[in-house]
Amino acid sequence: MKTLIINCGSSSLKYQLIDMATEKSMVQGLVERIGIEGSILTQKIEDRDKYIINTPMKDHKDAIKLVLEALVDKENGIIKSMDEIGAVGHRVVHGGEKYSESVIITDEVIQSIKDCIILAPLHNPPNITGIEACQELMPNTPMVAVFDTAFHQTMPKEAYICPLPYELYEKYGIRKYGFHGTSHKYVANKVAKVMGKNIEDLKIITCHLGNGCSIAAIKGGRSIDTSMGFTPVAGLMMGTRSGSIDPSVITFLIEEHGYTIEEVDDLLNKKSGVLGISGVSSDFRDVIAEADKGNIRAQLALDIFHYKVRAQIAAYAGIMGGVDTIVFTAGIGENSSLTRRESLRGLEFFGFTINEEKNSIRGKIQEISNEGSKVKIYQIPTNEELMIARDTAKLVK
Ligand code: AMP
Repeated sequence: MKTLIINCGSSSLKYQLIDMATEKSMVQGLVERIGIEGSILTQKIEDRDKYIINTPMKDHKDAIKLVLEALVDKENGIIKSMDEIGAVGHRVVHGGEKYSESVIITDEVIQSIKDCIILAPLHNPPNITGIEACQELMPNTPMVAVFDTAFHQTMPKEAYICPLPYELYEKYGIRKYGFHGTSHKYVANKVAKVMGKNIEDLKIITCHLGNGCSIAAIKGGRSIDTSMGFTPVAGLMMGTRSGSIDPSVITFLIEEHGYTIEEVDDLLNKKSGVLGISGVSSDFRDVIAEADKGNIRAQLALDIFHYKVRAQIAAYAGIMGGVDTIVFTAGIGENSSLTRRESLRGLEFFGFTINEEKNSIRGKIQEISNEGSKVKIYQIPTNEELMIARDTAKLVK
C-alpha cells in the first residue's frame, strides 16, 4: 500500500508518499504561499530534478488538487493513478484530551478537531481544511488523523495539571498537553531498537531541538512529562519562541508599557528565543556563525539555549530516578555537535563521556557516547512522516 502524508500549515502544505512495503519515502513535496501571490509547488523524487509548479492556489483544496496532479504527472510524477494511494495520514496538531492514539477520520473526529481550535487556533484550522479538501477530492480513500498531542496523554496529573485554580482545568481545559509527540515516540522506539532493548525497560530522555524545541521523559515507553505545555510556546527557548518565562512579564508589559495582547503574543511567539537574544536570526546556523565571529549576543543566545536544555535533561533524569539513554533529534539536535556537547556539559556525572569524533558527524543514527558509558547518548534523525504512515496503515488495515 502507498500512504500519502499531509501536513498542512496556514499557508503551506508538506506531503510525502510512502510505500509501506519498504517504508521508503517515494516523493517529498512542499506547497508554499497558498492563498498568497506567488504560490509554488516543489516536488522531489530521488535521482531526478526538482519538479516546480508556479500557479495561483487560492486555498488548500487548490493545493491538494495540484499535489495529486503532480503525483500522477506522466513525466514528473511517481504513480499512474490516484487509486494507488491506499490511505491518507494527516498530521493534526491538537487532539485535546480526547485522543491518546491516532484515529480513522469520521465526521465525529472532524468535529472533535474543530472543538480543539480554541486550544490551537493557528494549527488546527489548516489541518481541518486539509482533511476536508482531501475528503472532497478522494471521497473513497480512508483518512487517518495523527495527533501531536496524543503520545503525551500518558502523563500523570502531577505533570500536566497547572498550579492554577483547578476550575480552570475543568472549565477551559487549561493543562499541559505537550507537542512533537510523533517525533518523541519515533526516536524513543528507534533508540530502544538500536540498543537492542525492550522500550518497557528503559528510561529515555528525547530532545527534539529544531525551530520548535521540546524534551520528553519517557519511562517504560510512556511519556511521563514533556517541556511544552498548554501551547507550544512553553518550555525551552526556541528559534523565535520565548519558552517558559515568569507570567508577570506579560502583565508588566501591558500595564506599564502599553503593549496590546496581540503585541505580547507576537513578541512571545515570533520575536523572542534565539532571534530575540541574538538579534541575528532564528536560524541556529546563522547564530553559531556570528558567535564564532565574536558576536557577544549571538554567543549569549547559544549559552542560554544550551543551559535550558541541560537543566531540562537534569530535571527529567531526576523525576525518572535516572536515565538510560538521551537522544538528540530534529534540525539542531541531529546536526549541531556544538549543541549536543554543550547541552550535556556538566552532566557527565550521570555516567557517560562523549566521543568527540562521532559527535562531529551529523545527521545519522549513531551513539555518540564512548563505549563503556553507563548512560548512552544518541543522535537519531526523526521521521514523523513515517510514524504517521505506520499509524495510518495499521488503522486502515
Ligand atoms: P527543524 O525545525 O527541525 O527543521 O530545525 C531547524 C533548525 O535546525 C534551524 O535553526 C537550523 O539552523 C538548524 N540546523 C540545521 N542544520 C544545522 C547545522 N548543521 N548546525 C546547526 N543547526 C542546524
